[in-house]
Amino acid sequence: MSVPLFDTATPLAPLEAELQAKLLEIVASKRFIFGPEVEAFEREFAAYVGTRHAVGVANGTDALLLGLRALGVGPGDEVIVPSFTFFASAEPIRLVGATPVWCDVDPVTFVSTAEMVRAVLTPRTKAVIAVHLFGNVAPIAEIEALGVPVIEDAAQSAGTRLADGRRPGALSATLATFSFFPSKNLGAFGDGGAVTTGDAALAERIAMLRFHGSHDKRTFELVGHNSRLDALQAGVLRVQLPHLDGWADGRREAARLYAEAGLGELVSLPEPTPGALPAWHLYVARSGRADELLGVLREAGIGCAAYYRVPAHLQPAMRDVPPIVALPGTEEAARTNLALPMSPVLTREQVGEVVAALDD
Ligand SMILES: *Cc1c(COP(=O)(O)O)cnc(C)c1O
Repeated sequence: MSVPLFDTATPLAPLEAELQAKLLEIVASKRFIFGPEVEAFEREFAAYVGTRHAVGVANGTDALLLGLRALGVGPGDEVIVPSFTFFASAEPIRLVGATPVWCDVDPVTFVSTAEMVRAVLTPRTKAVIAVHLFGNVAPIAEIEALGVPVIEDAAQSAGTRLADGRRPGALSATLATFSFFPSKNLGAFGDGGAVTTGDAALAERIAMLRFHGSHDKRTFELVGHNSRLDALQAGVLRVQLPHLDGWADGRREAARLYAEAGLGELVSLPEPTPGALPAWHLYVARSGRADELLGVLREAGIGCAAYYRVPAHLQPAMRDVPPIVALPGTEEAARTNLALPMSPVLTREQVGEVVAALDD
């Protein structure tokens, strides 16, 4: 028997009829761009996140790009970003002509602390992109206390909440970004993304930037982008949104089963940051023998992966923007991480198989 690294199909199976009906309804309506389906999703997603505005965009990378542009980030500005993250967290900084300044991550939680951000703060720092990596929660309030605007990259943390009920996407006083790439916790049937914010002026600016800098197709006030969430994707997301919390519970239950099965004796378990109840997008353990264990798991037919072994600052495209401080946590995280199977429907038997393979 094999255990997949993730399973997006099983949780969606009970929703298949509803999803098909929704897609047919939108096809019949012929409203594919903007329109009621997109507006309804934006309202429902903002309410879910616990903020005032959500603006649907084409993908999570564009969400960051439009967010940076809405904040006026450009040439001469620095944006602090962790290097241990998906490349897309940093890429939009270059696209607006600004300079990424790499900060470290805690190799236990995989997120940056305020101390790590403070270490690379300069008078040119225009914003910080704090990544809620793997579904964990970065300390947004502590980073904001340094006096710079914080963008939450919440691409991996849909469904995560804090013990006090707040959620990623509503923690920053500025804005947050989401990806609805199919494998994310809330996944479209293609690409999709959103910017969330409590700031009406920022929401308005992002809504213009996603449509060529225009409100009305006649007057173009900004040089913008064509970056919309389309109606079919919005419909697919609306059908799934009411199930996101249940799926998050399933992910947390899977983590509990791993701990109960003794996984913590074989590898270091993922650790939530204080107050976080992560909807583990990826369940990333750590081991000094990570590469060896990857081989063992593959041999046993168990899905596993190493993430960001070559962190963003070491990628060829970033060769001209070297780090200004040492990044020991990043190096350790890159070397030791080991993603194990995780999904809302991971069973006790599957967890047992993973643990048994590692215990061999
Ligand atoms: C997936 C992801 C993105 C980019 O989202 P896309 O929708 O693929 O453009 C950005 N940041 C992080 C941390 C991600 O995981």
